[in-house]
Amino acid sequence: MKRGFGQCVLAGTAAGPVVVWRRRTAVPSLPCGDPAAEQLKFENARNTARQQLQVLFDEAAKSVGKEQAAIMEVQMLMLDDLDYLEAVAAAIASGASAADAAMAAGEEFASFFAAMDDSYMNARAADVRDMAGRIHDVLCGGGNGRLPEGEFLLAAEDLAPSETIQLPTDRILGIVTRQGSASSHTAILCRTLNIPLIIQADLSLDDAAQARILAIDSEKWYLDPDEQTLDLLREKQAGAAGERATLEAYRGRESVTKSGRRIALCANIGNPQEARIAAGCDAEGVGLMRSEFLYLGRNRLPTEEELFEAYKEVIEIMDGKGVVIRTLDIGADKQAEYLGLDPEENPALGLRGLRLCLEREDIFRPQLRAIYRASTLGDIQVIFPMVTSAWELHKARQICREVRSELLAEGIEAKDIPIGIMIETPAAAIQAAELAKEADFFSVGTNDLTQYTLAVDRQNAGLARFHDPYHPALLALLEHIAHAANDAGIWCGICGELGADPAMTETFLKMGYTELSMAPGCILQIRKIVCESEVSI
Ligand code: PEP
Ligand code: MG
Repeated sequence: MKRGFGQCVLAGTAAGPVVVWRRRTAVPSLPCGDPAAEQLKFENARNTARQQLQVLFDEAAKSVGKEQAAIMEVQMLMLDDLDYLEAVAAAIASGASAADAAMAAGEEFASFFAAMDDSYMNARAADVRDMAGRIHDVLCGGGNGRLPEGEFLLAAEDLAPSETIQLPTDRILGIVTRQGSASSHTAILCRTLNIPLIIQADLSLDDAAQARILAIDSEKWYLDPDEQTLDLLREKQAGAAGERATLEAYRGRESVTKSGRRIALCANIGNPQEARIAAGCDAEGVGLMRSEFLYLGRNRLPTEEELFEAYKEVIEIMDGKGVVIRTLDIGADKQAEYLGLDPEENPALGLRGLRLCLEREDIFRPQLRAIYRASTLGDIQVIFPMVTSAWELHKARQICREVRSELLAEGIEAKDIPIGIMIETPAAAIQAAELAKEADFFSVGTNDLTQYTLAVDRQNAGLARFHDPYHPALLALLEHIAHAANDAGIWCGICGELGADPAMTETFLKMGYTELSMAPGCILQIRKIVCESEVSI
């Protein structure tokens, strides 16, 4: 048995088969055999890749629909592309290994697609790279080519959000990463999906690759734990189940203090699957739908129709409860390669959130059309991320008006839904009183507000001691925002991770916040605090 520690992001106790997930670029190529042997290895790997794609297609068709699953079909066709196969054979004949030949030929074709004057063909570049990378993974053992059938735990160097959502998250019992930060979007995703996560772990991936079982218990990890340790973990699991059962008493109750102060406890989600989790956790609505997750882990932009279907499904699942849909917040750690955006030196300060949407109306307008089309199906509101100046809100509002008029002119119903803004930059927080005159509501993104106020990169775990969510500057801004909203008569919530901090619930009630939106699994715990609190109106 080997054991060690990391930083616990979402506590949990679990044990199961370990899968080591390595990024393609981190996997060294294997030594090269003679060309005939390499060609045979390539053919075998191609067959395995085809089988994997078929399984992924079937799984994706069930969970996200046939249209999105079609990406796998495209890649299956590419596996048989004669030009690609010839390029691989030529590279192997001139001495390359099967894995290097697969990648080099893939890169050659990807560059060819990327250079074409056609956005559909440009997007195919990512498909070719993915397909070639899959063959490389089969040959060298990287990526997610060897996932077991049932539940498992994952060990990785690090995981980007776009990588995480491509994994079968419903089968992952826990994740241990050697890097990672507590406020990254992968961490947020794990909280939403209730997947216990340890980051910054002192775990060797080579050791994990040799092990059969990985077990975790809050900040502790074990490789091939002995029976005594497993017994201890089982006991802990039973204890945690007992605690969860106590919280069940708060299911279906109103979130109101003993003195009658009411607050809405809502869920943060990224897609319909997470809406189901939210509904199962007794969320009073969706306080933040991070739409960008509909854009990640795929090779092309979602169509207006696909977005509409996803919003419709979320609205139906929430069954009459409110849903706040955030417009695309791509950028920083959430990257979509197919958008072909220029690399930035400081992406967190770059073209992200509403800025990107104002620069790229070709992306923004279809999303707004989908949101406005869904507006008649339930109680929805739209929110813009990363606002820093009033002009951005004016411009975005004007585009909303245009999109709505366009739909009405086409005979498609579209309601005049409330338009709010995320307060997540110090500029927006300081200007809250002015912005409150123009916005219908505020929701505070404390993850980014902390990052930008304290000048502490949320992705950099090495800065953990400087990342102080209770910093007086931050608390002063939070108080100022709530006052500005209340003075202007608009509602104001918190949807950053701090909204789920039990130590802050009473403070937020006193400041005047009327909604807290959080990972669904936290709702009952926070409701218990609200119901036991004396805070009055
Ligand atoms: C935030 O910044 O607090 C927020 C809710 O948005 P995100 O975490 O997606 O950046
Ligand atoms: Mg944010």
